[in-house]
Amino acid sequence: MTNLGNCVRCGKLFLKIRDICQDCYQKQEDNFVLVNDYLRNHKNGTIQEVSEETGVSIAQIRQFILAKRIQVNYFPNLTYPCDTCGSQIKEGKNCQSCMVTINELSKQVEKSLVKEEKTTSHAYKTRM
Ligand SMILES: [Zn+2]
Ligand SMILES: [Zn+2]
Repeated sequence: MTNLGNCVRCGKLFLKIRDICQDCYQKQEDNFVLVNDYLRNHKNGTIQEVSEETGVSIAQIRQFILAKRIQVNYFPNLTYPCDTCGSQIKEGKNCQSCMVTINELSKQVEKSLVKEEKTTSHAYKTRM
């Protein structure tokens, strides 16, 4: 049985052993080597500098960091944008304050769901 699929990056049809095709995978690995080499010589580089000097996109570098292929702890200035507000972070996908907001929001949604349940059951009782 052949398992064909489209590459999530270039859309090419290929034998799906991973999300991206062999060409894109090779390109990604080349990019990783570039970024890694640059960082080895520029421990204080920022993500903008790395991107400008290597020609690798910030999004791609961010992906390497999130995949833990680049250990940000070794590079004091290597931060990447928060998914929600774009402020610079070194861990996870969102900054601390966005995490708080996201948690608050999900709590509020939970609460309002519980409230809704109570009001409906109450209305039901009065109608009886
Ligand atoms: Zn591809
Ligand atoms: Zn944020």
